[in-house]
Amino acid sequence: MVESVKVRAPCSTANLGPGFDVFGLALDAYHDEIQLRKKGEGITIESSDHIPLQPAKNSAGLVIKEMTKKFRIKSGISMKIKKGVPAGFGMGSSAASAAAAAVAFNSLFELDLDQNSLVQFAGLGEKASAGSIHYDNVAASIFGGFVIVRKNPLDVISIDPPKDLVLCIAIPKITVPHKKTQVSRSVLPQQIKLSDHVSNLANASAITAGFMKKDVNLIGHSIKDIIVEPARKHLIPGFDKVKANALAAGAFGVTISGAGPSIIAFTSKSTDPKKICKAMEMGFSFSKTECTAVVCKPSKGATII
Ligand code: ADP
Repeated sequence: MVESVKVRAPCSTANLGPGFDVFGLALDAYHDEIQLRKKGEGITIESSDHIPLQPAKNSAGLVIKEMTKKFRIKSGISMKIKKGVPAGFGMGSSAASAAAAAVAFNSLFELDLDQNSLVQFAGLGEKASAGSIHYDNVAASIFGGFVIVRKNPLDVISIDPPKDLVLCIAIPKITVPHKKTQVSRSVLPQQIKLSDHVSNLANASAITAGFMKKDVNLIGHSIKDIIVEPARKHLIPGFDKVKANALAAGAFGVTISGAGPSIIAFTSKSTDPKKICKAMEMGFSFSKTECTAVVCKPSKGATII
């Protein structure tokens, strides 16, 4: 009988420009680790990171709570969370924990759930952080690679990214507002022009085609969003400068990572990604904002370690 399971899950970027609330991509920049153990009574969480430790307020805790209820688990569970993904910067931090928790629970209690069901449970955990259930980041963290998420009923389509896809993420050192996801959703337009929808749909379709054809140029040059990015960019100091600098340094496309404030550039091995990172750091420095820029690649999904 399994008594303890440890799972490692990657961070992710959601939206990829025009794929708002639909696209996700797992990234190998940072990982969370979760260890679950059958122990005592109820659910206890241990972590030395700055995250809520009450199960209902922690994305991983909420997943365990819901799964315990659903599968009528009698045993107590102790969970250790080791954060690698910085929280609140648009890199799916709470989602990485939630994804790892669902995968670990499935293995600990030998439930044999398929990946769509794991995404369904992990998505519930996002209520603890974002205030609402959403699946784009958790789907990427569970499946790995590029995902397309359809809801009602939930269905995740996963595509292996091209081997030469490289990402540069610039994470600004700014204080993110409490309830950041709600704030960044509140600035979005309630209605959009049909012609804007057509433009975003064309680019989103081209991104999907780019992943299918393993064409990094097509992916990168289709990262163009004229609906969400213009509405949100004022929340990120120096966004336009960072984007312009990254493009000038060779990036194919640049946009906000998830709900921000990180900015992500899409490029290929054949360019100079470190130069793009430097250019993004310089861009932020114009608005007196420090930032850490990292080069990364698409990641595989959550794995038992
Ligand atoms: P982002 O996707 O931008 O990283 P998140 O959706 O991860 O943002 O939200 C971060 C918020 O979620 C923080 O306020 C944090 O306290 C809360 N949170 C709850 N549980 C976790 C967890 N296990 N890991 C990270 N953040 C968590």
